[in-house]
Amino acid sequence: MNQELYVYVVATVLGGILSLLLCIYAFVNIKNSPGGKYYILATFMASFFTFSYAQELLSSNLEQIMFWVKMEYLALPFIPVFIFLMCLDFVGKRPNRLVIAFLYGLPLLTITMQLTNDFHHLYYTSTSLRSDTAYPVAQLEGGPWFLVHSIFLYGLVAASIIVLLMEFKTISSKFRIQLVLLMIGVLVPIIASVFYIMGLSPNGIDIGPVSMCVSFIFHGIALLSFKMFDIAPIARDRVFESITEGVLVLNMKDVLIDYNPSMQQVLPALNPSCIGKPIKDVFRGQPDVLNVITKEIESDYQSTQNSQTFYHEVKFQPVLNKKHVQIGKIITFMNVTNRVLLEAKLKEMASIDGLTNIYNRSFFIQESEEYVNRGSSVSILMFDIDHFKRVNDTYGHANGDKVLCHVVDVVKRTIDEKTIFGRFGGEEFLICIPEASLEGALITANKIRFNIESSYIKVNNQPIFVTSSFGIATSSYLKESYSLQELIQQADQALYLAKANGRNCVVPYTPLLNNVH
Ligand code: GH3
Ligand code: MG
Ligand code: MG
Repeated sequence: MNQELYVYVVATVLGGILSLLLCIYAFVNIKNSPGGKYYILATFMASFFTFSYAQELLSSNLEQIMFWVKMEYLALPFIPVFIFLMCLDFVGKRPNRLVIAFLYGLPLLTITMQLTNDFHHLYYTSTSLRSDTAYPVAQLEGGPWFLVHSIFLYGLVAASIIVLLMEFKTISSKFRIQLVLLMIGVLVPIIASVFYIMGLSPNGIDIGPVSMCVSFIFHGIALLSFKMFDIAPIARDRVFESITEGVLVLNMKDVLIDYNPSMQQVLPALNPSCIGKPIKDVFRGQPDVLNVITKEIESDYQSTQNSQTFYHEVKFQPVLNKKHVQIGKIITFMNVTNRVLLEAKLKEMASIDGLTNIYNRSFFIQESEEYVNRGSSVSILMFDIDHFKRVNDTYGHANGDKVLCHVVDVVKRTIDEKTIFGRFGGEEFLICIPEASLEGALITANKIRFNIESSYIKVNNQPIFVTSSFGIATSSYLKESYSLQELIQQADQALYLAKANGRNCVVPYTPLLNNVH
């Protein structure tokens, strides 16, 4: 075999092997990294193309050469497509469907034109063997579709460079080296093919295939270092996979780099195709999730799945490189549903009266004090069921309890939702009406008093009627700053008078009442 040809064949085969090895390596290592998937496809296509090219070089006649050229074209038109998609994916952009259809459609047309060239000669207008070479080299004259293919190919190269250059301006400087490596990777085979087209390559041998394989080393380093840069410190190992907390890993540009299986349970919208996409795209339809993630403040995330409510505590941690420069962030979602529910239950137990299910004394005071502290004027109503001992004595303590609950129901039906209602103890109750004037409070108290008096509860088919006495105090009689305790004391004094006045009546507190005791 011609010495020179031998060197080219060996170089080409080595190039093909290199591409294939890079493809396998990428499949194992950077499948899920930004751009990784398209890198695998591009290197695979490149190795297929390069091996076919080696066969072309070894062909002994035009017919064989043309067969291998056809084989080369099964892969060649897709290589710039995958490189372009790799660059896009790397910078976190996605083409729309129309662009994708164009990117795959045109190579398919080119392949068809190539395979059917004998019928229309639109791809090559003539095919012959060169007479000036020591071994068979084809002389191929490009037709109109060859021009289309060339424009497409160089157009994609230009588009890839533009995508990387645009990113160059905005990306933080520590990521620029990857962009430069990618650009070199894109340009190397182009420079080689320019040499070829200008007739500068020896014996008309296209050094493009070999240079392309070499260029994948640059791409590979770029993608791999990006991946290492971004997720190596995060140790994507079994711990990551198995911890019960959901974990999201983002780079500094808020691109999703990784997530663990627990995270998918928290946010079922996550799937492997989300990796490499900006989170604003991943959670486009879930503004609440996006809000929690982008706020970057420790917060709670509440979600509903299968009509069950879950609570997660969301925490943020920076990912630092060896030089302590932040290169990303980890967001953890810890399931605190049981704790939240338990807390709610405890809170409820601590604030609700067990018999009547209304606020207990301390919670009533706590809630009412919020109004008082805000400086609102309030009216306090204190009421006590009249002669309740008799009810207990006549119907028994258990029925007495039922009467208490009945009275509470009547009150609840009479007051509005702004009014705070609590059990003060025994058969004494407190009501706090925000913003109520004395007149308003008197009307409400009389309404409740009347409703209690005129309703009854049946025990053993016997109606039990009770009445109640009311004392009222409003903040309008007090100096500017007053305490709830003062009001309660005054309401108590007024209630005392209501009892003394014969019960089943409402008595407002006036400063004169101070002399009652
Ligand atoms: P007055 O009109 O003066 O208020 O007369 P009264 O009989 O209601 O007198 P008092 O307020 O002193 O008595 C309250 C009674 O209420 C005493 C107690 O046995 C009863 N009581 C307190 N808490 C409960 C309870 O939870 N259930 C029942 N059934 N009775 C209770
Ligand atoms: Mg009583
Ligand atoms: Mg009492």
